[in-house]
Amino acid sequence: MALKSITQRWFLNSFGVILVILVAVVAVSGITIRNYYYSAVKEVLNNQASTVDGMMIRYSENTVTANFYTEIRSYVESFPDKNMIELMAIDLNGNVSITSSGFSYKSSSLPDYTQALNSERGEGYYVGILEGTSEKVMAVTRLVTPVNSEFSAMRFVVSLERVDSAVLSIVVTISLVALAVLALVLVSGLFFIKSIVRPVQEIGYAARQIAAGDFKSRISSPSDDEIGALCTIINSMADELENTEKMKNEFISSVSHELRTPLTAIRGWAETLLDTDNYDAATLKKGMRVISAETERLSGMVEELLDFSRIQNGRFSLVFQKLDLLAELGEAVLMYTEKAKREGIQILYDEPEMLPIIYGDKNRLRQVFINVIDNAVKYSDPGGTVKIVAFAREDSIVISVADTGCGIAPEDLPKIKTKFFKANQTRRGSGIGLAVADEIIQMHKGSIEIDSTLGVGTTVLITLPVSGPEDAPEQSAILERKEDHEQTL
Ligand code: ADP
Repeated sequence: MALKSITQRWFLNSFGVILVILVAVVAVSGITIRNYYYSAVKEVLNNQASTVDGMMIRYSENTVTANFYTEIRSYVESFPDKNMIELMAIDLNGNVSITSSGFSYKSSSLPDYTQALNSERGEGYYVGILEGTSEKVMAVTRLVTPVNSEFSAMRFVVSLERVDSAVLSIVVTISLVALAVLALVLVSGLFFIKSIVRPVQEIGYAARQIAAGDFKSRISSPSDDEIGALCTIINSMADELENTEKMKNEFISSVSHELRTPLTAIRGWAETLLDTDNYDAATLKKGMRVISAETERLSGMVEELLDFSRIQNGRFSLVFQKLDLLAELGEAVLMYTEKAKREGIQILYDEPEMLPIIYGDKNRLRQVFINVIDNAVKYSDPGGTVKIVAFAREDSIVISVADTGCGIAPEDLPKIKTKFFKANQTRRGSGIGLAVADEIIQMHKGSIEIDSTLGVGTTVLITLPVSGPEDAPEQSAILERKEDHEQTL
């Protein structure tokens, strides 16, 4: 289909135009050359006519009338160019009375003679078939100047066959050159079209494969032109899709795994408590504590998933209010201090005296702190430390969470805020925590910077601008941001 339409368009727009131009060039040059040759022949006949005319004037002056006819007759019969030009003397009745070839010539009409009679200059011109023959000729008739002569006009007739064949051979040569040019244009054009259509067909095939879900499909050996650039873009788009597909599958499996773990604990304890008739209060309490903690974990995860889905749908909004950031940070640290200690990790938090008041969504900011501290603990091994610092710097508040955990490889570092991305598959997690946290901080016009060395540790720097109520974004602005963000997340 593509081949047909591109080739057709090329035939119409390029080849067709060149064809028309070449035909016009051949036609115009043929006509011009023919006119040039004909006017040269006409010039020769006119010169002959002038010469003969002059000669007749001389005869009429020097010769007695009785000899004039004889003089003219002998001149016509011995006309020097009679091999090429036939000279005819026309009598007063308009009949050809003498010819240089010696053959008598009878003609019902002499168009050039009639024209000469009617013209002021006494000249007539004719190009056409010589009457009584099939020969194409040019004839020039000049009325005889001397009065009282037996002749009214002299007619010069020349065959155009040689002229026409000369013109024809030139036109044939030009046509052959034009044909050669056309053939060249055709070959190079078809070659060029093929070089476009082939890759376009391949692109179409690969794009269809990708659209059908085969993200492994690639366009092979792209050229180094614009089409090559397009192939490279499509290939990298397929790379991205393949990667996203892989991350999505991993995400589904991590989330399922994440959900299964607390559910197993809850179910285990619930069954234990149900099956046991006589359990002591301590066991009951322990069981209920596990059930409560795991339920909490489950609802946290579900909340995170819902937040993520809201961000994707552009329905994620914040409630801005005046807030004490230290209170939220303190609460998040407190939540993890005990848990970290149980895992042999020490949380060091040197709470500052006070921080400037800011406007923001306290629940969402606490959620960010929890996420970052949770990551710091999760990716640390027993014996590690997590150091949390908060301070004011210029017009911002900076919260730093530094751990001595496994760290992140440099090639993974730029991707860890991307949705579904997990650099470390050995630890629990869905890969959307940092994506949500980054979104929340960006909505507060702040930033999250992550610095990490593999095997040494990671530092997460959260910077929030010190803001007043006037900086709190309008609800609609928040939603707009979401839509913009959707494409980048
Ligand atoms: P997850 O739920 O998998 O932790 P996140 O979005 O919170 O998802 O983090 C994305 C990835 O970034 C993690 O899978 C992990 O590989 C890496 N990461 C985040 N924080 C840390 C950290 N403190 N130390 C090492 N790796 C981290």
